Amino acid sequence: MMSYGYKPALSEGALKCPIFQTSTFVFKNAQEGKSFFELAYGLRQANTGEESGLIYSRLNNPDLEILENRLCLWDKTEACAVFESGMSAITTVMLTYLRPGDIILHTSPLYGGTDHFVHHVLQSFGITQVSVNNNEDLSNIVNQLKQENKLHKIGLIYIETPANPTNELFDMALLAQLAKEISTPERKVLSVVDNTYLGPIWQNPTEFGVDIIVYSATKYIGGHSDVIAGAVLGNTEEITKIKAMRTFLGNMAGPWTGWLLLRSLETLKLRMDKQTENAEKVANYFRNHAKVENIRFLSHLTPEANPHQYAIYKKQCKAPGAMISMYVKGEEKQAFDFLNNLKLIKLAVSLGSTESLAQHPASMTHAGMDVHDKNNLGITDNLVRLSIGVERAEDIIWDIEQALTFV
Ligand code: PLP
Repeated sequence: MMSYGYKPALSEGALKCPIFQTSTFVFKNAQEGKSFFELAYGLRQANTGEESGLIYSRLNNPDLEILENRLCLWDKTEACAVFESGMSAITTVMLTYLRPGDIILHTSPLYGGTDHFVHHVLQSFGITQVSVNNNEDLSNIVNQLKQENKLHKIGLIYIETPANPTNELFDMALLAQLAKEISTPERKVLSVVDNTYLGPIWQNPTEFGVDIIVYSATKYIGGHSDVIAGAVLGNTEEITKIKAMRTFLGNMAGPWTGWLLLRSLETLKLRMDKQTENAEKVANYFRNHAKVENIRFLSHLTPEANPHQYAIYKKQCKAPGAMISMYVKGEEKQAFDFLNNLKLIKLAVSLGSTESLAQHPASMTHAGMDVHDKNNLGITDNLVRLSIGVERAEDIIWDIEQALTFV
């Protein structure tokens, strides 16, 4: 992965890929420009071995193409499209496949921004939603849609697992299978997974038959809280459609973002290994703490207490990740007292970075969600979401311990 896709000879022998900070590319001649555009607009099939040429940085750019090729290696997919944010990756996928009158079936909870887009923006385009949470039986929902003669209206199955901010798990194989079952020769229904919480090191959705993977690359892939980016992965046929939508929405990432992410990918595994090792220590230390009501951390699932979630964890996840959902004893006041007294851990939204972060989902990332849904899904006022970084684990534990004395 480290050197994949980059040829030093094409860049004056530079060991590292330079930043191709250019908006446009010079064609050798007019015929070449015409030929590149024919491919870009799908006016002809590519000849064997022919790759799309460089045209304009809203369509392609060496830093972004190399990044896309390297991301494919991690998730073992044919193709990738990068974006200027996780939200632009997610919304472009939805706009590629959904049309007025369609229904999007999605797991719940979702990251607050995605939840807003589905409930408010898609709704205003006449696209409605049906949500599945883990208290509900998927087959009941499917039967209900069948009875209402609406099953054929499902245009996309959208999954977030583990769900932000509760660490709830969903069975990807089951939902991917449902997408296949409701597909018809006229319309293929795709399954999409937001893999931001565990991917690409700890979870690879295509192993479970999922069609499309989306990422906020702002999180673990970027990993240093200094870049906003997104990515979508899948087979060439689907990524070609998504790239076409990207061209016209104009939400391609820039070369500087691409370069930063190429740098980040080199330490991706090192960072993520250290983060999950730290998170396990932190979660274990606080699981029976007097000021903590409950901790939701994936390796705490047991076959006795959580048989369904445990089975999914064992099947899908290669590690518990580094996100801890910590319910302090009390309400919003106690959660705020904790957050306001952290010294090392930063009080900030976002996750997956080298530094540990803490935030209050009910009033921050998920503030816009329906209050009833929030309570129903465990996004309560005493929930604090912790993203564990690469600092010394003992220092993180020390900080949480001292902040809890204020609760
Ligand atoms: N998906 C998840 C799970 C997230 O946590 C976020 C952001 O917090 C996003 C998507 C959106 O990504 P971005 O902020 O890069 O647009």
